[in-house]
Amino acid sequence: MHLVIVGNGVAGITAAMAVRAKDPQAEITIISGESEYFFSRTALMYAYMDIMQRRDLEPYERKVFREQRLTLRKDWVVDLDAGARQLRTQGGATLSYDKLLLATGSRGRRAPWERDLEGVVRFVSLQDLDACERLTPGTRRAVVAGGGLIGVELVECLVHHRVPVTFLVREPSYWPAALSPEEGEMVAAHIRAQGVDLRLGTEVASMEGEGKVAGITTTAGEAIACQMVGVTIGVEPNVEWLRSVKTPPDLNRGVLTDQAFRTSLPDVFAAGDVAEVTGRIEPLWYAAKRQGEAAALSMMGERVEYAPPAYYNSAKFFHLEWTCAGETKGPGRFRKLPGREASVRVIERDGMAVGFSMLGTRWNHRVLVKWVEQRLRVDDVMKRLSEAQYDVEFGRVAL
Ligand SMILES: Cc1cc2nc3c(=O)[nH]c(=O)nc-3n(C[C@H](O)[C@H](O)[C@H](O)COP(=O)(O)OP(=O)(O)OC[C@H]3O[C@@H](n4cnc5c(N)ncnc54)[C@H](O)[C@@H]3O)c2cc1C
Repeated sequence: MHLVIVGNGVAGITAAMAVRAKDPQAEITIISGESEYFFSRTALMYAYMDIMQRRDLEPYERKVFREQRLTLRKDWVVDLDAGARQLRTQGGATLSYDKLLLATGSRGRRAPWERDLEGVVRFVSLQDLDACERLTPGTRRAVVAGGGLIGVELVECLVHHRVPVTFLVREPSYWPAALSPEEGEMVAAHIRAQGVDLRLGTEVASMEGEGKVAGITTTAGEAIACQMVGVTIGVEPNVEWLRSVKTPPDLNRGVLTDQAFRTSLPDVFAAGDVAEVTGRIEPLWYAAKRQGEAAALSMMGERVEYAPPAYYNSAKFFHLEWTCAGETKGPGRFRKLPGREASVRVIERDGMAVGFSMLGTRWNHRVLVKWVEQRLRVDDVMKRLSEAQYDVEFGRVAL
């Protein structure tokens, strides 16, 4: 069996390792355009801040791929012919497969006001990191457009390099997709306290410059001179390349799959950020890992009915840590913790705790997820909250 995996991110590599663990004979080829070796995308910011060397972003020693007999190829796949079971690459190679896994991840969304000028950056790929590093020394001011998790990481990196930043966020409060207005206010105050010129309710209207960025104009009509513009308005499944191949799989926002990660094409599977599994896209590291593992079993003929656990995520807004589990929107109980830049919010429906949003302190998401899945009464959860605290370094805080 020749398994070909397109994309060497966490979904693709986890799938390759899982197939190898079960089948010592399988021929496994992983082809990816961005880098030869798997790296941790979530740690990009630490490379930008010079806290980690690029090589340290790689979760595995390079020899592991040789030992596991995983053939790595660095190239972009440009065509898929499911009838002939073949892929064609930008480098002119043709690869035959028996089974194919599409694990091509996400890409940064393009903004309607964006122009192809030197100085316009995203923060998703290693090539984006290269561009950011190249531009940083010559940047007297940067504008980052788009709140959320990737936007604030890029802003933090720029602040680390002492680049003045204007951070434009379209919404009237910070990241209302997940944070309540009170939490948004705390996060906004924290970001401003780092010296960031954060403007809520403000978008880019146009971008100025010839060949390279000279500035932007906001929807409020203000012109801001800058040499770098970070576009961080979200990511989308990386499916564009599949629209023009000889036999595209069924696509919606992502590559459509059933619960066993099967696409509409025979022996072609999809997993990770690119997959829309029974209508749901989970653009998260641990979800991509979980999907890679499950897709591997499915490709080996095992019965798989993927059902993700309750949603959870954790992130950092500069020094403010955030953990969420289950639902993040809806009515609930909010408590600001005394004397701290911290809060807890328990989302409540019909007297039950259906989600948690915890800011400024550390929480064990496993406990929170378990409570959501157990549908505990919110009154009981409020009494037991300290059981889910995870402040091992600093001790538990008073709730
Ligand atoms: C800056 C940043 C911070 C993040 N932080 C977090 C976090 O804190 N927590 C969290 O849960 N998630 C986080 N994420 C999201 C997380 O990184 C992704 O969910 C995860 O990496 C998805 O893995 P994947 O294997 O599906 O795809 P990817 O890691 O995107 O890998 C896919 C690979 O396929 C390659 N590829 C695409 N098309 C082709 C083609 N046609 N031919 C060949 N190769 C191709 C891509 O270039 C890419 O290298 C973050 C993402 C970013 C960008």
